[in-house]
Amino acid sequence: MTEIAPGAVLVINAGSSSLKYQLVDPRTEHVYADGLAERIGEDASRIKHVAGGNERTVDTVLPDHRAAIEHVTGLLREDGLDLESAELAAVGHRVVHGGRSFFAPTVIDERVRSEIARLAPLAPLHNPPNLIGVEAVSSLLPDVPAVAIFDTAFFHDLPEESATYALDADVAREYAIRRYGFHGTSHQYVSAKAAEFLGRPVSEVNQIVMHLGNGASMSAVREGRPIDTSMGMTPLEGLVMGTRTGDIDPGIAFQLARVAGMSIDEIDHLYNKRSGLKGLCGDNDFRSVLERVDDGDEAATLAYKVYLHRLRHYLGAYMIELGPVDAIVFTAGVGENAARVRADALAHLQTYGIEIDPELNAVRSPEPRRISTRSSRIEVLVVPTNEELAIARQAVALVAE
Ligand code: ADP
Repeated sequence: MTEIAPGAVLVINAGSSSLKYQLVDPRTEHVYADGLAERIGEDASRIKHVAGGNERTVDTVLPDHRAAIEHVTGLLREDGLDLESAELAAVGHRVVHGGRSFFAPTVIDERVRSEIARLAPLAPLHNPPNLIGVEAVSSLLPDVPAVAIFDTAFFHDLPEESATYALDADVAREYAIRRYGFHGTSHQYVSAKAAEFLGRPVSEVNQIVMHLGNGASMSAVREGRPIDTSMGMTPLEGLVMGTRTGDIDPGIAFQLARVAGMSIDEIDHLYNKRSGLKGLCGDNDFRSVLERVDDGDEAATLAYKVYLHRLRHYLGAYMIELGPVDAIVFTAGVGENAARVRADALAHLQTYGIEIDPELNAVRSPEPRRISTRSSRIEVLVVPTNEELAIARQAVALVAE
């Protein structure tokens, strides 16, 4: 029987039809188990569960998130991990949108729950499922403190000029329209790790962090504080992503509504699910896109060029905004694994003090590492992100106060 050490944390990231989980000890960084329940509420659901190095895939029917968490609890029990008798320090919930109200880890009580619900119009695709996750887990583990960690928190005090859209100020105020930024837990964790790797206090490092996953965002972090980020009021703005447009002329929505007769929901779906790399070439898995680029596939090649074009556009902007840049940091699925993307993103920038070493860039490792040449004025790093660990640590720090 595996014992869960007192003080472990269950981390939950609930999406509309999915539930990602990890049971981790934030002090030792030991991961007891993690997994993903998908297609919740559909006819055929699936749980991918990993514990003790063994991966299991369970095909089942999960009518709702509560059923999912109950099933996961059962799988953990089969692994000898009994959540209900464990002395968990906290359950850490990723909550996507904290609006202006939340910018620090927060114990979720009734008041916080209704405040997160009140923010739903700001993140209709994200906050409601996050709350469903909170309810499902709380009903199962009522005595364990539930802590919300907000994806927007790190960007809470962006300078006014980067947080403000040039929109009628009264309308913006009334509807809380501003740049909030997302992936904050990752940008914060990775920028701190990068400084640690460089052996310098984060308050002395200027860096550009590229979180390149299926969702992708970039931030400019000056002396530990972000001064700009590519995602906006929603996670739709900025870089080209797996299935999201990123930046697009706002007028395109009018065209699609007036001329193509599309409804707001159809445009929302088009922008979020049918665009980005997938919209351009039919694939949003970067590995397939790169294979097709190698095979000379035209659509994939154009998609990749558009992706790089936007990335370099933000890179240039952030270099000017930051002033002297000490480090450029790659993270997340694509950033950590796709050496080709890193090389192409920073190609021909020697005059700006950026030079990648091809051999270092080819190294695969789960550890933070440098991939720039000795003569590169700006350090280029790969720093694996770990949002679950960051959430667990923040949750524990709060409940220990
Ligand atoms: P998210 O958390 O946003 O779903 P991830 O950070 O897990 O995304 O990143 C997923 C992306 O990383 C996918 O597009 C996947 O193809 C890409 N990826 C993973 N490994 C590699 C690799 N070796 N080469 C290229 N892309 C990769």
